[in-house]
Amino acid sequence: MKGKAYVIAGPSGVGKGTVVKELLKRDDKLSVSISATTRQPREGEIDGVNYYFVSFDQFEELVENDGFLEHACYVDNFYGTPVQPVMDKLEQGFDVILEIEVQGAMQVLEKMPGSKGIFLLPPSFAELEKRLRGRGTESDDSIMQRLETAATELGCINMFDYYVVNDKVEHAVDTILDIIVSNRGEEE
Ligand code: 5GP
Repeated sequence: MKGKAYVIAGPSGVGKGTVVKELLKRDDKLSVSISATTRQPREGEIDGVNYYFVSFDQFEELVENDGFLEHACYVDNFYGTPVQPVMDKLEQGFDVILEIEVQGAMQVLEKMPGSKGIFLLPPSFAELEKRLRGRGTESDDSIMQRLETAATELGCINMFDYYVVNDKVEHAVDTILDIIVSNRGEEE
């Protein structure tokens, strides 16, 4: 493979989406994987752009046909990375970003020896809760479940190659770009 896969994980609300959007703007050798999910679209989310929104049956069919590089259940829904687009982009020489939760991240890091794991941390747990509530997209129940999941996810941090604290988006983006560029340097 000409490119490298970067798995960016970290608790819901840490700001992975914003960081990834900025990374893509700043580096044209980067591509992002679009996941499939059984979750309902949030307001403003577009099928094929933010996610492929699929039914539980469609998701199961994709699992049975080995259509996913990894997949996981997260807060009552399924999420998975379609394998073929990732392989195509890597082959074309793009570095591919997978913005996924921790169980899936570990599957990718095990399956793809060249891949790198980046764990994005909130500056504090209180700040994470504030960000999740401020987003206004989740019910109280979902926020509580996401915070509980975050605590478990933090326990897996040692499986990752890098930790980056998302205190300020520009700072986190600069750090991650440094990581990506230094890995490219090693291979040239
Ligand atoms: P959300 O519902 O907030 O969009 O996503 C919930 C969690 O699922 C987030 O941590 C997000 O990174 C993760 N996620 C999104 N796509 C995938 C995927 O394809 N696989 C896995 N394992 N997690 C995903």
